[in-house]
Amino acid sequence: MQVLVYGAGQLAQMMYLDGAALGIDVRAVDVNSNTVVHPVSKARLDGTIAQAIDWADALTVEFEHVPEDLLEQAEASGKLLPGMASVLIGADRVREKQLLSRLDIPNCPYQIVTNVDQLPDCVQQLGERLIIKASRDGYDGYGQWRLNKAEELPQLQQQLAGLDLEKVPLVVEKMLNFDRELSLIGARSRNGEVMVYPLAENLHHQGQLHVSVAPATASNEALTARAQEIFTRLVEGMDYVGVLAVELFQCGETLLVNELAPRVHNSGHWTQAGAHTSQFENHLRAVLGLSLGATGNIGGDAAVSAMVNIIGCDDHQLALLSIPGVHLNWYGKSVRHKRKMGHINVTAESYQALGNKLQRLSGYLS
Ligand code: ADP
Ligand code: MG
Repeated sequence: MQVLVYGAGQLAQMMYLDGAALGIDVRAVDVNSNTVVHPVSKARLDGTIAQAIDWADALTVEFEHVPEDLLEQAEASGKLLPGMASVLIGADRVREKQLLSRLDIPNCPYQIVTNVDQLPDCVQQLGERLIIKASRDGYDGYGQWRLNKAEELPQLQQQLAGLDLEKVPLVVEKMLNFDRELSLIGARSRNGEVMVYPLAENLHHQGQLHVSVAPATASNEALTARAQEIFTRLVEGMDYVGVLAVELFQCGETLLVNELAPRVHNSGHWTQAGAHTSQFENHLRAVLGLSLGATGNIGGDAAVSAMVNIIGCDDHQLALLSIPGVHLNWYGKSVRHKRKMGHINVTAESYQALGNKLQRLSGYLS
């Protein structure tokens, strides 16, 4: 079977690697050059995108910001999963908020702003601590601004003045003092089967994911059930097929949805080493109409996993592989500030053992 992925980054690469083991061939569309490439070597492959669409049994995306003309061409083939409507929801915070309202799913209080003159009203309604997000093309904290006190408002308005807010509105959110960030990754297959992974607990720095731990510490049945219920409502509400990532803020007993990613997700990378079936394999299975693989911890109920991103540097030491249960995934990209270069998965039999391994690991990372 054959899958064409829009986007030729590390997520397509990891889909390719897991697909290869099953005899599923994966090719990628480099959306910058509009060419079809090998997902690992990035070497250009023969043929046009239209030919690759004919070749594929299913089309999918590794990121939501695929140019709309390419998405339309993919959707027209009838093979794009998740479908264009779901991808566009993930690409546009306004559509995302509309979906959450329609499905009655709790999320962060917000206002939509199409003119900087509306910002004082946001302060009135939401308070003076705000997080301001471009509705499109943001990721890893890019396309975001923060307001910490009302006095900073004129400065912020000046900063935002150059943006075409009629075209790309802002979603202005109350800055929450949440207890922690969680994510639920799961899959829905073409025949409607739904499976979710254990909740992951995510540590961010400057708007960017650094570490995920799964299962989340101190997670109980009620919390897990609440997250699953949100997940099911979302995938059924969108008639979604594939892996979906739901980013959550936990405030006491309440879970608020922060954002959705209509694809495999960084906070699900731990599944490569820690779950019976990786998120990459399950995504391929879902879009190809195969049955989904088990999502539980490979080491049993007490086992735990972590994923540590390697960000903005390429001087990790391969000697870190001497720590048992440590797996390195290198993306082969050129180094840039804040760029995700690779990640390390760590599996352990308990949180305490995981802590020890992470401590040893830190000695090998700069
Ligand atoms: P992206 O991941 O696309 O860059 P997010 O909306 O997930 O954008 O924001 C990135 C991070 O910024 C979040 O993971 C969280 O740490 C922080 N953040 C986002 N929204 C809020 C909010 N309303 N209150 C507090 N922190 C937030
Ligand atoms: Mg996010």
